[in-house]
Amino acid sequence: MKVGAAGALLAGRLEGVGKRGMLTVLAMAAAIWGIGGWLRAPASQVWTLIGVLYAAVVLAQLVLPADSAIRAATGGRAEPWLALGIVALAVWGYRRLVGQLRARARPAAAPARPAGAFSEAELNRYARHIALREIGGAGQRRLKAARVLVVGAGGLGSPALLYLAAAGVGTIGVIDGDTVEATNLQRQIAHTDDRIGMPKVASALAAMTAINPFVTIRPYHRRLTPDIATDLIADYDLVLDGTDDFPTRLTVNAACVAADVPLIAGAIAQWEGQVALYDPARGGPCLACVFPEAPARGLAPVCAEAGVAAPLPGVIGSMMAVEAVKHLTGAGQTLRGRLMIHDALYGETRTLRVKARRDCAVCGGRGAASGSGDWTAADPAA
Ligand SMILES: [Zn+2]
Repeated sequence: MKVGAAGALLAGRLEGVGKRGMLTVLAMAAAIWGIGGWLRAPASQVWTLIGVLYAAVVLAQLVLPADSAIRAATGGRAEPWLALGIVALAVWGYRRLVGQLRARARPAAAPARPAGAFSEAELNRYARHIALREIGGAGQRRLKAARVLVVGAGGLGSPALLYLAAAGVGTIGVIDGDTVEATNLQRQIAHTDDRIGMPKVASALAAMTAINPFVTIRPYHRRLTPDIATDLIADYDLVLDGTDDFPTRLTVNAACVAADVPLIAGAIAQWEGQVALYDPARGGPCLACVFPEAPARGLAPVCAEAGVAAPLPGVIGSMMAVEAVKHLTGAGQTLRGRLMIHDALYGETRTLRVKARRDCAVCGGRGAASGSGDWTAADPAA
C-alpha cells in the first residue's frame, strides 16, 4: 500500500510519457494486493506476485525495442520504475530496522516459572479455591507442595482420593492390596464396571488422572503392613486412613505417631460414620488414645456383614478431604482433638472433644497438654 502510494506520488511528478502506463501497472499491483487480502493469502505470497510483476515490467523496459507496444503500455522508460524500486527498498529497509529496534526494546522473555508457581491452565483450574479468602494463592501453593498418603482405595478412600486430586494436592500416594470387585461399585466411586479385576490403586490412578492430570500419583499395590508403615508414612506430610479393619488402623496410627505425621481417620458402618484428625505432636490424642482396644465383634461390624448405605462413605470420605485441605492450608479449625460423628439415618451430626491418655501405649499422651477433652470410646455414655 505504502509502496503503491509512493509510486503514485512519483508517477504524478513524471511529466508526459508513460504516466498512464505506470498507473495501469500500479493498478494491477493494487488488484493483486486486494485479491490476496480477500483470499486471506499470506502477505509473503502477495508480495512475491507483486515482485514478479515489477521484475517483468522493468525487464520489458530494458530488453524490448523502444517502439514496443508493451513498453509503451507499461510506462515506456525503465528509470521511473527503478526509482520506484529504490523508494520501495528504502521503505522496506526502514520498516525492518524499526521492527528490530522495537524487538530489542521489548523485555526479555519471561523467566522460567519458579517451583510451586502455577501455569495459566492451573490458575484457571483452581480459580474457585484461589477466590476463597482462607485458601487463596498461598494456600493453593501449599496444596501443590503437599504429599498426602491415602490408606485404602475403597469406600472412604475413593471420594477422598478424587477430591484430593481435584483440589490440586501435588503428590498423592495410595496404598491398597485389593482388586476391584462388583460388590465394591455400590459405594466405591473411584472404580468402574469395566475395571473389575484391576488393582484398586490402578483404577484409582485412572480416575484421579482423568480429573486432574496436573498432580503426581504414587500407587502402591499392597497391604500396609507394620514393616513398611513407618518408612512409607515418613515420606508424606499427612495420612488419610479409610481402611475398615482395626489392626491396620492401629498400624497406621502407630506409624503416624512414630513419624510425627498427622492422621485423618474415617470410619463407617451401616448409616453412621466418624472422622477425626489425630496429631499428638501438635496437641490432642492419637487414635489409640480414643480407641485403645479393638471393638468387640458385633459392636463394629464390617461393611460386608452389616451393610452400608451407598452415599455414606461419600459423605465421610469427603469430610476427610475437607479436613485435609483445611489442615494443609491452615484454613479454619480442624478436627484435631475432636471426633465428628454423622448419623445419616436421622440426619444428625455431633462433634465430641477427645483427649490424649497419659497411659497411651502408642503416643504416651504427649499431646495431653493441649488436649482438653473428656471422652474416650470406652465411655459408656458415648
Ligand atoms: Zn495415644
